[in-house]
Amino acid sequence: MSFQPQQNVDLAELTTFKIGGRAAFFTEVTSASQLPEIFAWLKQNSLPHLVLSGGSNTIFGDGIFRGLVIKISIMGFAVISESEKSAVIMVGSGEDWDEIVKRVVERGLSGMEALSGIPGLTGATPVQNIGAYGQELKDTVKSVEVFDTKSSELGSLSRAECDFGYRDSIFKSDLKGRYIITSVVFELSKKAPGVPNYKDVVSYFESHNIASPNLEQIRQAVLEIRRGKFVDPSIMPNAGSFFKNPVVTELVAKKIMQQNPDVKVYPEDTKIIPLEGGNYKIAAGWLIQNLGLKGLELEKVRIDPNHALVLENKGGASQKDLKELVSKIQDAAMQKYGIALEPEPVIVEF
Ligand SMILES: Cc1cc2nc3c(=O)[nH]c(=O)nc-3n(C[C@H](O)[C@H](O)[C@H](O)COP(=O)(O)OP(=O)(O)OC[C@H]3O[C@@H](n4cnc5c(N)ncnc54)[C@H](O)[C@@H]3O)c2cc1C
Repeated sequence: MSFQPQQNVDLAELTTFKIGGRAAFFTEVTSASQLPEIFAWLKQNSLPHLVLSGGSNTIFGDGIFRGLVIKISIMGFAVISESEKSAVIMVGSGEDWDEIVKRVVERGLSGMEALSGIPGLTGATPVQNIGAYGQELKDTVKSVEVFDTKSSELGSLSRAECDFGYRDSIFKSDLKGRYIITSVVFELSKKAPGVPNYKDVVSYFESHNIASPNLEQIRQAVLEIRRGKFVDPSIMPNAGSFFKNPVVTELVAKKIMQQNPDVKVYPEDTKIIPLEGGNYKIAAGWLIQNLGLKGLELEKVRIDPNHALVLENKGGASQKDLKELVSKIQDAAMQKYGIALEPEPVIVEF
């Protein structure tokens, strides 16, 4: 067997939070055809594996991962079919997500323009069904091409088989770790885009006097709004929004709304009309701000002073430091609102 992984590799540098210990073994994969040999090696040495793409949604443990970290760098962009109404494209997992959105918008294809500016690589996008400004990845996914680590075979999962949910899919829940995503097939529309019904986006176009924005204008609006909302991880290491917006029952929501008429609820028009099932999605950032925790600092980690949903590594933080801050926030939210806040990034323990 000729497979030769790198050894004793620093993991913190491979993530945007800059937290993590070391990997006993590490390799970068540029073609799906390399995977069978790698998994034969793992089997022969009875070692576990972890998959990594851009590292913008991953927080590694502080110790040594005694297995193989596989970084996915499988490239490729191809138009598979095209009609008057739509186009089907296949994108390699290692392609930078925002570059793909840019290319697709330039071709006049709609369905992912509101997902502009999300860091990371394409292969990770189905894992948590990325979403922003009312668009979710699942709305354009046709199929997800995978390597099955159990059978060592390549295969394809339909959108229905991925069982997408709010920041969720089988890749994050039921079949976590089983599949390596090698490419994603999207079906995009040639119809004029709908304008995201979000306060920030609507007021952006009002202030720019644009009545019917085109795809490029929507992309530029989203990019500009995001610049004001998110903290650049290259300046202050972070993983974007740290908690999912909790979905709560009508009883819990009404109690919060009565006591706090300014509570922020998503989508922004559901304050009166609940989501399907009678539930409400409350903005996690609003909850943290209303707990008076914005700007809270521990020694090496903090909540950003301007963005309550962004947790940051001030320098040299460990996963343990971060978990301490996370527990403080979760305990306070549970005590005041009876709400369990759930982290959005993948926290890997070792
Ligand atoms: C500033 C900032 C803003 C953000 N904004 C948003 C936002 O608006 N909306 C949103 O949804 N997210 C957002 N995120 C989170 C993050 O960017 C996305 O979840 C992104 O898709 C993660 O991509 P990645 O390549 O960095 O994934 P990684 O962190 O490398 O991996 C994430 C998870 O997916 C798994 N994985 C990665 N690649 C594969 C693969 N090929 N096959 C199987 N499993 C794989 C990993 O094992 C890990 O569990 C933001 C993050 C930051 C730092």
